[in-house]
Amino acid sequence: KARVFSFGDKKADGNSSMKNLLGGKGANLAEMSSIGIPVPPGFTITTEVCTEYNALGREAVIDLIKEEVKASIASIEAVMGTEFGNKKNPLLVSVRSGARVSMPGMMDTVLNLGMNDEVVLGLAKKTKNPAFAWDSYRRFIQMYGGVVLGMKPESKEDIDPFEEIIENLKEKRGFKLDTEFSVQDLQDLVFDFKDVIRKRKGLIFPSDPWEQLWGAVMAVFNSWNGDRAVYYRSMNGYPADWGTAVNVQAMVYGNMGNNSGTGVCFTRDAGTGENVFNGEYLINAQGEDVVAGVRTPQQITRLGSQRWAELAKIEEADRAENYPSLEELMPSMFEELNDYQDILEKHYRDMQDMEFTIQDGKLWILQTRNGKRTGAAMVKIAMDLLKEGMISEKEALLLVEPNKLDELLHPVFDPQALKRATTIAQGLPASPGAATGKIVFFADEADKYKNSILVRIETSPEDLEGMNIAKGILTARGGMTSHAAVVARGMGKCCISGAGALKINYKKRTLTVGDHEYHEGDWISLNGSTGNILEGKVATIEPELSGEFAEIMSLSDKYAKMKVRTNADSPKDAKVARNFGAQGIGLTRTEHMFFELDRIKAMREMILADTVKGRKQALEDLLPMQRSDFEGIFEAMEGLAVTIRLLDPPLHEFVPHQLATQKDLADEMHISLQAVKNKVAELEEFNPMLGHRGCRLGNTYPEITEMQTRAIIEAALNLKERGIICKPEIMIPLVGTVKEYEAQETIVRSTANLIFEERNDTVEYLVGTMIEIPRAALMADKIAEKADFFSFGTNDLTQMTFGYSRDDAGKFLPIYIEKGILKVDPFEVLDQEGVGQLVKIGTERGRSTKPSLKVGICGEHGGEPSSVEFCYNVGMDYVSCSPYRVPIARLVAAQAAI
Ligand code: PEP
Ligand code: MG
Repeated sequence: KARVFSFGDKKADGNSSMKNLLGGKGANLAEMSSIGIPVPPGFTITTEVCTEYNALGREAVIDLIKEEVKASIASIEAVMGTEFGNKKNPLLVSVRSGARVSMPGMMDTVLNLGMNDEVVLGLAKKTKNPAFAWDSYRRFIQMYGGVVLGMKPESKEDIDPFEEIIENLKEKRGFKLDTEFSVQDLQDLVFDFKDVIRKRKGLIFPSDPWEQLWGAVMAVFNSWNGDRAVYYRSMNGYPADWGTAVNVQAMVYGNMGNNSGTGVCFTRDAGTGENVFNGEYLINAQGEDVVAGVRTPQQITRLGSQRWAELAKIEEADRAENYPSLEELMPSMFEELNDYQDILEKHYRDMQDMEFTIQDGKLWILQTRNGKRTGAAMVKIAMDLLKEGMISEKEALLLVEPNKLDELLHPVFDPQALKRATTIAQGLPASPGAATGKIVFFADEADKYKNSILVRIETSPEDLEGMNIAKGILTARGGMTSHAAVVARGMGKCCISGAGALKINYKKRTLTVGDHEYHEGDWISLNGSTGNILEGKVATIEPELSGEFAEIMSLSDKYAKMKVRTNADSPKDAKVARNFGAQGIGLTRTEHMFFELDRIKAMREMILADTVKGRKQALEDLLPMQRSDFEGIFEAMEGLAVTIRLLDPPLHEFVPHQLATQKDLADEMHISLQAVKNKVAELEEFNPMLGHRGCRLGNTYPEITEMQTRAIIEAALNLKERGIICKPEIMIPLVGTVKEYEAQETIVRSTANLIFEERNDTVEYLVGTMIEIPRAALMADKIAEKADFFSFGTNDLTQMTFGYSRDDAGKFLPIYIEKGILKVDPFEVLDQEGVGQLVKIGTERGRSTKPSLKVGICGEHGGEPSSVEFCYNVGMDYVSCSPYRVPIARLVAAQAAI
């Protein structure tokens, strides 16, 4: 089998469908080359070789691929007219990782490989540019030293050992910029770099290009198992056995003088989704310079959207006309680039994120990939591509990542509060959103406060975990494509980059703007949509759901076959959910209505009552409260089904456990403190989750079921009188046996009939049950003979199937996940393999005796994408989830049906 795939000169061995084998980058390079895009020639070592490397080790793997790699190097040499290791006409290559999916900044890159003390002289002569040659050499040693030889800063306050040498020399010479170094300075740097490697690592820097190449290839393989990559994988659920490919490619140079440059560009705005070509570049620089954020780059074009026009203004003010756009500076290069971006977006039919280099007036495209984007941009781009006729409705729906919709449901700054806020400074609007938090300066301290804003000069891949924890990210350096900006957009996190007015001192932990000093722990707010940095805490409000978001939602409803209901306990929640498109209520937890202050008192009196008569008395006080809540909920859900569950939790949750409250209660009820204490002690359970709860309550205290049924039916009749249609579905919780269900159903139906007689009117209603005890799933055929509907309570079903207490699992689940004993938390993501069997069995057996049985889910899993898809495949009629998950579930229901 082939382990190495070549590309270049408008040909390629691979194509874009081979992402698993060639990695995303390798597959794209092959594809681009074959559609006539000018990519520098190169080859890809497959992801399978990474797995072989992990099993067999370095030497065995080199033996496996040596011949193929040699042949591939030879074809690069043929295209470029240069030779690897040749002292007069050398070929230099880049070595990069490339996994199946893009993992920004995760894996390492080495540029200018093939350089040594002799090659550098040859290159200097050939290009007549010794400064360029020596600068390339020192960059190579710096990168190879960091990536392959492990030269890293020794502590978090330290800077990179090579940067330290550079800074020292700059200071000695009184230089501001790297570009001011003389050839002699660069030669000194090369010497000092090798010296520090020898001193710290005891290594002689390798001069043989082949030895360099094998070292870099193995370093890429090793980085797949580095901390950063492992963290990113676990954050996204990518398995370790995917491996990474290695891409080796001819170097092209953006740093050959003022007729050269390099940049990053996007076919659309990754922050807002607007259809404007945009990006950044630097003249006389290498690709890493743009992303690393050391020099703040210039715009590709000053035209385009409002947001980019804003940006240009900031640039104008900051750096004036010394920094023109590419369009102004090199119009023909811009035109060519503009053509390629158009070709590539049409070819891949999605927004592209491209890297390019101009070498001495020739444009090369280094890579393209589907660009990372914010949730808002994701939705807009999907709808725009559809409207432009580039993709179909189904494809538009599949372009939307369900969990990312969540970002659109997050709060935004209250415009009133914004008006009053003081602006500290302005940076680039790198990733939209609103964030408020306390300043932290180090990524590993992001969890120091509940809400933190990570403030850095610039970020690096090591900061990933902290960036994920922080509410927002602020950097003093770097452009719209800096590490901070790209990663933040990927995470959907608010970010402002390149706020040049900020002076950050890590040692003192201060942020200074003008004569104002801010300290760690001070509150600041970031407006990622404008780039404004605000003082203090700025209030936020709920977002509006309109425009493309609403369009994606109605498109979802067009294709979805399964309905999406919501779990809501109050008229307010019901209204929110209906705004999000809920098609009914799948669960109203009636106990939540009893937790309010005036109600809990009546509830306690009911629980403390010694006699049935006393209990009925107390229940009569509760009746009007429940009835009016139900009326509110029915009204909010007019015309849609509303499932109301009878009382579920153990009674001890309602009684007071503190002496003072017990005393108050005793006084109010005119009974002794001892009587209250006795009752509390009596209700105490060893294992309340498996104790006196669910329908066991209604079966021991039928008057509770009677009262709740009355509240539901009377509410429905009252609304009917007002001409409002409601469809109550009364749900019996925690059923394990048929008899348990029957006993409750009898009470519900006879109470309803009684009310119908009293009122001389009727409403239609259903009676059904939750399936949340494994026995109920197994007995589903028998239960379905009686019940009108099933709703899977997968919270309890998971608890009882795994035998993990819902209330105690937090102590050991994180450890299980860390150790890999469990992949994910089964209370979050439905365990399809195990618990899922019970869901399937329950549905099938239920429908075997009652084909018309309505089946849904109301556990937390009802809003989790993979679980929603599972529910669709099982054949459920609906899922029910919390109001804020409703849009996500609607989308997944559509995606599952496509
Ligand atoms: C369930 O068990 O899945 C359920 C929805 O009920 P609760 O979470 O109220 O126990
Ligand atoms: Mg339950």
